[in-house]
Amino acid sequence: MTLDPETATFLIAGPVRIHPRVLRAMATPSLNHRGEYFHGIVAEIRELLPTLFGARGHQAILSGSGTAGLEAIYSGLLPTDARTVVVSNGNFGERTDAIARRYSSRVTTVSAPWGRPLPVAEVVAELEKGDVGALCVVHNETSVGLANDLAAIAPAVRSSGALFLVDGISAVAGIPMAIDAWGIDAVVAGSQKGLAAPAGLALVHLSERAVGRLHPGSYYLDLLAHLKSLEKNDTPWTPAVPLFLALREALVLLRDETLAGRLARTHRLAEASRAAVDALGLALFPDRGHASNTVTAIVNPDGLGDDLRKGLERDYHVLVQGGQGELKGKIFRIGHMGIADWPDLLVTFAALERILGKAHRLPTPGAALAAVVDRMP
Ligand code: PLP
Repeated sequence: MTLDPETATFLIAGPVRIHPRVLRAMATPSLNHRGEYFHGIVAEIRELLPTLFGARGHQAILSGSGTAGLEAIYSGLLPTDARTVVVSNGNFGERTDAIARRYSSRVTTVSAPWGRPLPVAEVVAELEKGDVGALCVVHNETSVGLANDLAAIAPAVRSSGALFLVDGISAVAGIPMAIDAWGIDAVVAGSQKGLAAPAGLALVHLSERAVGRLHPGSYYLDLLAHLKSLEKNDTPWTPAVPLFLALREALVLLRDETLAGRLARTHRLAEASRAAVDALGLALFPDRGHASNTVTAIVNPDGLGDDLRKGLERDYHVLVQGGQGELKGKIFRIGHMGIADWPDLLVTFAALERILGKAHRLPTPGAALAAVVDRMP
């Protein structure tokens, strides 16, 4: 049977599976984006957005994928008269570095090998050298399944006076982020990850201080223009109307589940996945103590190359994701964020047991499934 996207088990590292209610929300006739009805939808989204971030503040909705949000904050907030420090330990850290270098002429990059935690002491030392206007970091490094410990660097960022700018694209609504307590000035979320809305919107949270420091950068992604229009429940340019409708419904689902509820479920799914990986005799790619709760990255076993991922898709219609960049063919990644749930993991790990069993590489039949079942509520 050929793979049918309507029935496949869909666990890539985002976009994620979308609830039918969210899909249906988009199936409406065209709306006048300058009319009262649409303004009402924007007003509801604005009321719901603090649920997504777990914080109140200035919050903008940009039509464009997560990278649009990153471009908006870096173009509008990177200093022109001070240094920018970028932390990089994976593919998206490298992307941050590339974007930052478009908008800041004095970038210092503090890096760690892909899959290793951010080097806290080096970051602190770099901040202590002074003259740092902004620090940019990826909260959850999707490419290697690792969550960076922002709490560990937060005090040093605060005392340096630098703006704390966070790529939260695969972290928001998946990994706890104490925006106010850690003094974060800007966070970007992507609609297609923990929120489980379709791809194509970037949600941006800004502190009071960040709004005060915004300067003209990108024209299309000018956050001041967006915030000003939003005060009237409007957008400066034509918004992606169907995506706004989906966003509202996805936010209602999140509000009903509660942010704490979604974070707890995502955490449990991650713990079950890690235990099942151990039971399969496979290895996690990142340092275990820093393994992400939204994406589990697993080393491809010797001699099997990318066979596990390909077998999952071909024989069981389970979609997971391969490695990016230098990790292509070396790892595969299971995304378990958004509305991913226990049946998704049961199918995935049952199929992995079967594939490894056929290859005579399964240490204890049934152990991975038991690891998942034992952790179900
Ligand atoms: N940053 C992180 C941490 C991501 O996971 C992704 C996408 O997976 C991006 C940035 C890029 O986001 P987008 O592809 O939505 O532009």
